[in-house]
Amino acid sequence: MEQASFKVAIIGAGASGIATAVNLKRMGIPFVIFERADDVGGTWRDNAYPGLACDVPSHLYRFSFAPNAEWSHEYSPGGEIHAYFRDVAKQRGIMEHVRFSSEVTEARFIGEGQWQISTTKGDGGLFNAIVLATGILHKAVLPSIEGRDSFAGTAFHSSRWDRDLSLAGKRVGIIGTGSTATQILPAIVDDVASVSLFQRTPQWILNVPNNRFAEEKKQAFRTEPGKMADLYNHLNFVFNERFAAALVGENDEGLAEMARMCRENLEQNVHDPELRDRLTPSYQTGCKRLIVSDKFYPAIQRENAHLVDTPITRIEPTGIRTEDGVLHELDVIVYATGFDPFAFFRPAVIIGRDGVSLNERWRESCQAYRSVAVPEFPNLFFVGGPNSPIGNFSYLRTAEVQIGYVMELIRRLADGNYREVEPTQEATDAFNAEVEQAITRTVWVTGGCTSWYFDKRGKVVSWPWSYGRFKADLEQPRMEEFKVA
Ligand code: NAP
Repeated sequence: MEQASFKVAIIGAGASGIATAVNLKRMGIPFVIFERADDVGGTWRDNAYPGLACDVPSHLYRFSFAPNAEWSHEYSPGGEIHAYFRDVAKQRGIMEHVRFSSEVTEARFIGEGQWQISTTKGDGGLFNAIVLATGILHKAVLPSIEGRDSFAGTAFHSSRWDRDLSLAGKRVGIIGTGSTATQILPAIVDDVASVSLFQRTPQWILNVPNNRFAEEKKQAFRTEPGKMADLYNHLNFVFNERFAAALVGENDEGLAEMARMCRENLEQNVHDPELRDRLTPSYQTGCKRLIVSDKFYPAIQRENAHLVDTPITRIEPTGIRTEDGVLHELDVIVYATGFDPFAFFRPAVIIGRDGVSLNERWRESCQAYRSVAVPEFPNLFFVGGPNSPIGNFSYLRTAEVQIGYVMELIRRLADGNYREVEPTQEATDAFNAEVEQAITRTVWVTGGCTSWYFDKRGKVVSWPWSYGRFKADLEQPRMEEFKVA
């Protein structure tokens, strides 16, 4: 018997919030989306740096339920992906459910299967379930380098790129060598007077060109959508079953092949042996998130591009000083220094049963049950929660698998089967103990590097098994591992 007033709050109108909304709408369950910004799109709305593109192929980086024949490139530019999410939200009637510029400040469980949500706009209310779709990489991290605030030029984090800023003729410094920095450098090298890349750790890079889709190809996708479905399934297999398996110790041949391809890329495309040496990582391929680019090596070898691998001592009003005493004079500093993947819903406050705070509980380590729920927080669900497969599977597939599972629990709540559902502490502990053991076999741990996958305890928090296991684990809730009321 469906509860007449049953209502779900989704927090966040990025990719996972939109997909959750589409599913709830399909099921006829009322919902509201709270979004702190004034547009949908999450990370693809926030990031606007030059060269921004997705490193997952376009025909995989889309919702399974919304194929798109119009992608311009094999790997989509950021703006196109943002437009795609906006279009899906518009076409599926999701926009009218979004409360824009309304940031959730607190979610408090008040008993009887109900949550009280408070927002900056004062438009919160009571809800029966919450889906936290707050994204993984939204809290920018600035490095704690002495003198950072003394810089007299323009400085900003890569995710706060001012679209009106012109870099023409400027001396630009980029700190970082992750996916972001390696995309920015080739995109600006032609415009700037000089660009210096401050490298703390080199990266392994796969040489993958990003070709345009010919009009005939797009036409074929339009007229024969089966072709898009086949491609999606093929890419899903290659990425999620082969590539991801290689990282978690289930495809050693694949990992060795990746390592060979990265080394070959370096050897064939970086000509000066000294520069090649400085760009050669000392850790195993796949340990840090693999970079995909055919543009970075050519760009760093341009005359006006400089690799600076002497450690930074401090930032001064006119530039960056390195340990060898050299002052690298700059007009602009771009901090491509990454994100805090453990921020999740924060700075919002979440209070569960008996006043227990999730912020407190997750101070050191964020632990959940199978990445989607937490004991003592009934009817609260995560998409992209702790131990989500980050850095290995396509995030949109990950999100859809989690949403399918969460929908199953929400359907039972909406049907009135029970008023409250939460995982047991025993099942959650058992899951986390299993993760902790299995993660030690993954290349993220054995590969000899540090990365943003490590949490404050120095432990890697990701999904340590294959995509097959992820799908199987989240196929259907095992109700014996939940408490219901
Ligand atoms: P990141 O991978 O975390 O890289 C941060 C970089 O900043 C690293 O090179 C790090 O060096 C450096 N760094 C941090 N603090 C520093 C300091 N104090 N001094 C010098 N260097 C410092 O960040 P990101 O490049 O923004 O990428 C984050 C994630 O976003 C990616 O892994 C990916 O998942 C996603 N992303 C995806 C795409 C895409 O194409 N889909 C594009 C961009 C980003 P160390 O390595 O030494 O720590």
